[in-house]
Amino acid sequence: MNLTFKKKSFFFKLSSKIDNSNTTYTYRSGWIIKLKNIEKGIGFGEVNPLSKKDLAKCQIQLNQIPKYINSKNISELIKSFHPCIQSAINSALAEIERKIIFQENYYFNEIDQTAILLNPHNALQDLKILQENKFFNSKPLTIKWKVAIQNNVSEEKTLEEILKHLRSNIKLRIDANGSWERKIANRWVDILKDVENIDWLEQPLSTDDIEGLKELNKRIPVALDESLLKYPYLINEWDGWQIRRPSQETNPMHLLKELKDKKGFRSLSTSFETGVGRRWLFHLSSLQLLGLTPKVPGLAMNKNPNSFLFLDEPKSIWDQL
Ligand SMILES: [Mg+2]
Repeated sequence: MNLTFKKKSFFFKLSSKIDNSNTTYTYRSGWIIKLKNIEKGIGFGEVNPLSKKDLAKCQIQLNQIPKYINSKNISELIKSFHPCIQSAINSALAEIERKIIFQENYYFNEIDQTAILLNPHNALQDLKILQENKFFNSKPLTIKWKVAIQNNVSEEKTLEEILKHLRSNIKLRIDANGSWERKIANRWVDILKDVENIDWLEQPLSTDDIEGLKELNKRIPVALDESLLKYPYLINEWDGWQIRRPSQETNPMHLLKELKDKKGFRSLSTSFETGVGRRWLFHLSSLQLLGLTPKVPGLAMNKNPNSFLFLDEPKSIWDQL
């Protein structure tokens, strides 16, 4: 299949900064790519690496893709490229070949349909405000708390307070982004092991401590996130929860298949994509909810600025870039 390849760069500031234990996100940048085949039509993809330092590498590699190329050659060429470029090209190819057909609407705009990120510097207060809001009173909610940002003594105190106040219809996800030692992780598991409304501990230990993560997973549900990005083979081996990021994986079609095959324990997470990459998040999240282990995705929708970059129609985004 003969293709025309085009790319345009994007940049946007998040509506507010996002802290985790390793980094702070204040803006996102990357590229929207467009593949076009005269007969079959157009496919869009988004190159949006989580780590800023990968942008230069992606730029160099994107410049190596010729404007006119066929589908076999582009698939071969990108095999050694950054996973985000592979993701974007494979997404666009899948769209052209109708291997994925997006719906017009996905309905993830209500607050209870995605996990709500607490302000890590004010987590308890945030939770209280949320619980006092009458609108949410009867709704089951999922909240996510990023930890290992302040010192552990004060975070453990906050945990005790949160558990004291947590309503039974609120689920809690705790994400250490790989920053705990085993000793601290075990202290948290001791506190949390009998708490029913814990969804999981997310990446409690470093990406490389797979043995430690396996041990913890015997005591409490542990979700891998950064470990899966560094060691993609774990997708086939880790039988606990997996945080999956279609824009960071080499081919989101694999996750599409896993979800169609009703594989459980996969949860979707945003890497702060524009409306182009978000289509995959919405589509895969909808499928996830139809599976055996439904969980609301982590889409951080309230972090998107008001911009054409978040329109639902990729062509409108492309034309305005
Ligand atoms: Mg995470």
